[in-house]
Amino acid sequence: MDTRAKVCIDRILPRELRRLQPTEPVRGGRTRAINPIGKSWMNGTTLHVRFMGGTAAEQSTAREQAGWWQQVANLKFDFNNASDAEIRVTFDPNDGAWSYVGTDCRDIPLNQATMNLGFLDGGTAAHEFGHAIGLAHEHQSPFGGIQWNEQVVIAEAAKSPNFWDEETTRHNILRKYSVDQVKGTAFDPDSIMLYFFPASWTLNGIGTKANDVLSGLDKEFIAGAKMYPKTGATIPDAIQLKVNARLRTQASIGQMGEEDLYKFTAVADGRYVIDTQGPTDVVMKLFGPGSATALIAEDDDSGISANARIAVNLIAGEYYVQVRHYNRESGMGNYSVKVRKM
Ligand SMILES: [Zn+2]
Repeated sequence: MDTRAKVCIDRILPRELRRLQPTEPVRGGRTRAINPIGKSWMNGTTLHVRFMGGTAAEQSTAREQAGWWQQVANLKFDFNNASDAEIRVTFDPNDGAWSYVGTDCRDIPLNQATMNLGFLDGGTAAHEFGHAIGLAHEHQSPFGGIQWNEQVVIAEAAKSPNFWDEETTRHNILRKYSVDQVKGTAFDPDSIMLYFFPASWTLNGIGTKANDVLSGLDKEFIAGAKMYPKTGATIPDAIQLKVNARLRTQASIGQMGEEDLYKFTAVADGRYVIDTQGPTDVVMKLFGPGSATALIAEDDDSGISANARIAVNLIAGEYYVQVRHYNRESGMGNYSVKVRKM
């Protein structure tokens, strides 16, 4: 067995680093320590995949292991090789295995890969597709039980096959995601999102094993309310909002983690305002035109008190609005939503 750790690099966009900074109070509102990272795709999304290289066998492995997620999550993969596919995969053996995380893939130019499968040992493709649908590394879980021997890890990762400097090693292995950044719960030693690390890399002599299949908790989490529940609202269920309707549309976040979906048709180019009102602290995202994966804007409390408000110039077309509670863990309550053309 090759005891060198083949470590996956989850790519974090530069702007992400800025987003992790504490935010200033908004218009006299409450101070929020950290913005949660909303990287998951809209529930029920079909993600298109384009292979930029790879043998038939390599592509087949990637398709099969992506399918493990599709079996349990309310997501579909369409391997249509479209030029505007959300997930674009290279198979460069000299570039390791890595992926951008979830909706970050949208920010990568279409002629560039969002994932590289430089090796396909075990469940590597499933692991990388896990990133592509918004999962982080299990070994960086703040709930994790790994007691790193930092000096050994830094020295080992500086050798073949990784050749990482200290900062890269700190980013990829040692630095833990803060509790506010992740949606997971307990550390899962069987997760596909965990990599093999030798016992000598830890202070207590307890290493980790590579996992080649989705664990029970992986399946439960990805199909759960916080990610892609099959029972949740999906794109075809989106409620139609009439632009400039006389009455506001009344709604509620009736259960934890619920996401409400709306769509509206902009019949003419112009400036549109979408806002919520009511006592419930919601986050609103606007997607389109004609796409449920192309994010235009996101807001949590530009509206009155903790309400959301997006004012944006749109071309004619169909748009999707997603509303969820700011606090996915426990938030519920009533709100109303309205779209106006100015
Ligand atoms: Zn990874």
